[in-house]
Amino acid sequence: MTSLSSPSVSHPLRDPYLLTPGPLTTSDRTKQAMLRDWGSWDGDFKAVTARIRSRLVDIIGGGALEDPFVCVPMQGSGSFVVEAMLGTLVPRDGKVLVPMNGAYGQRMVKSLTVMGRAVVPLDKGDYLPPTPEEIDRILANDPAITHLALVHCETSSGILNPLRAIAEVVAKHGRRLLIDAMSSFGALSIDARSLPFDAVVASANKCLEGVPGFGWALVKRSVLEAAEGQAHSLTLDLHDQWRAMEASGQWRFTPPTHVVVALDAALDQYLEEGGLLGRHARYAHNRDILVTGLERQGFHPLLDSRWRSPIIVTFHSPAHPKFSFPAFYEAVKRRGFVLYPGKLTKVESFRVGCIGQVFPEQMNAVVAAMGEALTELGVTDASPDPAALAAAPIPA
Ligand SMILES: *Cc1c(COP(=O)(O)O)cnc(C)c1O
Repeated sequence: MTSLSSPSVSHPLRDPYLLTPGPLTTSDRTKQAMLRDWGSWDGDFKAVTARIRSRLVDIIGGGALEDPFVCVPMQGSGSFVVEAMLGTLVPRDGKVLVPMNGAYGQRMVKSLTVMGRAVVPLDKGDYLPPTPEEIDRILANDPAITHLALVHCETSSGILNPLRAIAEVVAKHGRRLLIDAMSSFGALSIDARSLPFDAVVASANKCLEGVPGFGWALVKRSVLEAAEGQAHSLTLDLHDQWRAMEASGQWRFTPPTHVVVALDAALDQYLEEGGLLGRHARYAHNRDILVTGLERQGFHPLLDSRWRSPIIVTFHSPAHPKFSFPAFYEAVKRRGFVLYPGKLTKVESFRVGCIGQVFPEQMNAVVAAMGEALTELGVTDASPDPAALAAAPIPA
């Protein structure tokens, strides 16, 4: 096995680095944790489950509050736990305001529609941030809205939505806030001691650097207690999942055992790295190396630095006639790095992730690889079409 923690960048035997927002490149230690089989009812596995649940609550500082947060793990990809949160915590006669500025906001609207909850979409297009002022106006004009569901970092563009300002407006109106922090949890602060919200969801294969297979909701205990019988679904019922886990220490249905122990190992490494501050610092440094290096080559990031997360960065595609993303992708992959296609509807773009087991060495190497790939393609200028820049104005 090749070493992933002190990697040789051009090692011919190792898998390419995934510069994608999950699944992402994990450490050898995390992968090795999966080489054992566990009985889901066994005391050793129950202890792992209990440990990860309390460590996840600690990440938001939610344990010692008067109304503490509890952790409810849920099998499946991230969208399963988003749907479980919405379906369990929004009453059947509830109404949810959902700011949308990318695929994940749109997906919440779709989930709510499928499960028959009233929904008010606030469509901001591909990447513009929802403003606290417009949320204030909508809530003031529609007293039937019970909840606001917000994507923290909208992974479609990499924008960091203004969570705190929106949370304060929602609290001022006495409504409830549900957060999809899938791609930010563990790297960007969400502090239950100072931020007013009811629940936040995330999954194993993003900033905590585990492997895909489950997610979790952290929910205010009183809110979860009051949610009995509200869910539209048996499997996605957070209340029932929580009650069963509290009673037996076991998961209600078959847990992804190997994935759970991998997250436990990933959390050991998270704490060794300095927890949220350490991880945030590494990712922010990764992003800065990436953006500085690519700007020097003529690439243009979509967002101004004010909105740019340390999770994933969107770049405009070069306008040069010899540029094609599929050819560029293959040329970069041959050099050991997997990029991510863009998701904007109006302009051509691509994305590069900053998260996972990647360090300055890899970020410098991917910048160099992208430069070589341009040369290979015969692209002499990486700057975007001025019309694309004009069509994608940077939010103030
Ligand atoms: C990854 C992600 C999800 C979940 O996506 P899955 O493909 O179901 O894991 C949800 N919201 C955001 C913001 C994400 O980045």
